[in-house]
This record gives sequence, structure tokens and C-alpha cells, in this order.
Amino acid sequence: MAVVFVFVDGVGLGPGGPQNPLDADWPALIRLAGGQRWTNALQPHADGQRTVTAVDANLGVPGLPQSGTGQAALFSGINAPELAGRHYGPYPHSKTREALRQHNLFRRVQQLKVPHNEPAAFANAYPDRFFSYAARRNRWTVTTRCCLDADVRIRTEADVRTGEALPAGLTGRAWRDDLGLDIPLRTPAEAGTQLAAIAADHACTVFEYFRTDKAGHARDHDRAQHVLHDLDRFVGALLQTLDPTRDLVVLCSDHGNLEDLSIKTHTRNPVPLLAWGAGAACFADAEAITDVTPALVAAVAAQTA
Ligand SMILES: [Zn+2]
Repeated sequence: MAVVFVFVDGVGLGPGGPQNPLDADWPALIRLAGGQRWTNALQPHADGQRTVTAVDANLGVPGLPQSGTGQAALFSGINAPELAGRHYGPYPHSKTREALRQHNLFRRVQQLKVPHNEPAAFANAYPDRFFSYAARRNRWTVTTRCCLDADVRIRTEADVRTGEALPAGLTGRAWRDDLGLDIPLRTPAEAGTQLAAIAADHACTVFEYFRTDKAGHARDHDRAQHVLHDLDRFVGALLQTLDPTRDLVVLCSDHGNLEDLSIKTHTRNPVPLLAWGAGAACFADAEAITDVTPALVAAVAAQTA
């Protein structure tokens, strides 16, 4: 039994059209959404095996959602922008850190006392230089801070070589070309199969994909196509490898961005919340990104009960 949470940064549900690279035939993304494209025409649907819905990322706070507070809300269930007094990012706001420490997804999964040595896992790897940079400046992203707070191992270059972690870009190409690191190249589909294998050893496994948000800020159509192509192949392999009668795949975002390449900022659009497999019903009533972590915890609890 595996629960996999794929967090995709900066993907909202906006109007279809040429400015929206999600309004296209991405087979696996459409499959995950029950046959629908990821636009604002998406019809909510929940049938026990699958939940397809749009959730709010604004959380009652004016302005454009940002990653620090959005991800804190997504990974803890607390209304982080309200706590911080505004949308804030990209790093967690100081006023949200204590709540994030206490209520983060990893910690809540660990408190379920499920029969795993490592109940919660973060499958992203970070290059060695990330650790010295983050430690020196005390600038951890939301997910890496959750790891530190919950004693979840932050995986490294060595884990990529042994298949125990994935580079954030999925294929490893950026690590090889830009950082000069000697790691294996993989296809996005191989990365999806690999994430499924990692997830089999844990009660709940998170993977974070942020190239979507970068492509949105760049307003770069070619880059958006490339990033979505990789995500589609990756999700396709996950769905092919995992068993929906036992396993659960959940995908959500922290705020919109990529769905409108006519602007370079985040958006106030709702974000997709897609759950496929055993426990998908836990997400049927979700209305905001703050509902994702409680539903994930409920799904893990139900699977391991
Ligand atoms: Zn962004």
C-alpha cells in the first residue's frame, strides 16, 4: 500500500486558450482528472475510486498567493497566509513556522504509528551544495523545513545514484548539464516508476515538482510544453505502476501560474486536487488547499488501520 502525493508548483485551473498550455491533450494528466483537461471547465467528480476537484488557494486573503504561505497551508492544513497577515514567499513566513513544525504532513503521518520504519518520505534529492547554502542562510523551503521538523531524511546526490531519490527535474539532465554532477539520466517515465518503488517502502511519500512554476514565471511556451510533457510521462508511469485498489496518488498545487502565460505572476485561480485510488474519497469534500493534508492523513490512517 502506497500513498504518493505529487505537489506541482504553480498550476491553476484557468480559462482554456492559447495562453494556457494545460489546455491540450496530455494523456496522463487527463486520465488523472477522469477524462478532463486541467482548465476552469473541469467538472468536480467523486466516485470513491477517484476525486477530481478544484480547490481555493486564496484562503480569504487579498493579493496573489505565494509559495511560502501556500505551501505551508498545503503541507499543514493551517491557514498560513491568514497567520502571516499576507501571502508571502517563497520561503515560509516566520509567523507560520511553529504551526508548520507542529502540524506538518510528515509529522502527522508519523504520529499515526503506522508499521513502517520510515512512515513519511520526501523523495526529492538535493545537491550537496543546497545543504551548505540553506544551512548557512537558514533558508529552507517549506518541504525541506517540514523534513527537518519531523526528522524525515532529506535525500542527496548519493540517493539519486542508488535510485532512492529523484532530482527535482525528474530526468537528472539539469544536474548533469548545469551542476556537472555525475548522476544517471532517466526518462520521466522511469522517474515515475522509481517514485512508485520508493513509495512502496513508506506509508506516505511526497514528491515536489517546481519546474511548472518556473515556466509560468518565464512565460515561455516551449519550456511549458517541455515541463508538462515530462510531468505527463511521469504521472503516466505512476498510474501504470501503482494499483488503484491498494495505492493512492494525489496531486495538488499551491497556487496558479502556469495556466496563464500572458502574465508572469501567480494567479488567484483555483488549483486542481486530483486523487486516484484507495482513499480518494477522503478528498471528496475538500474546498481549499488547507484541506489536503488532513485528507492525506485520513487516507494513510484508513490504509494502515
Ligand atoms: Zn512562483
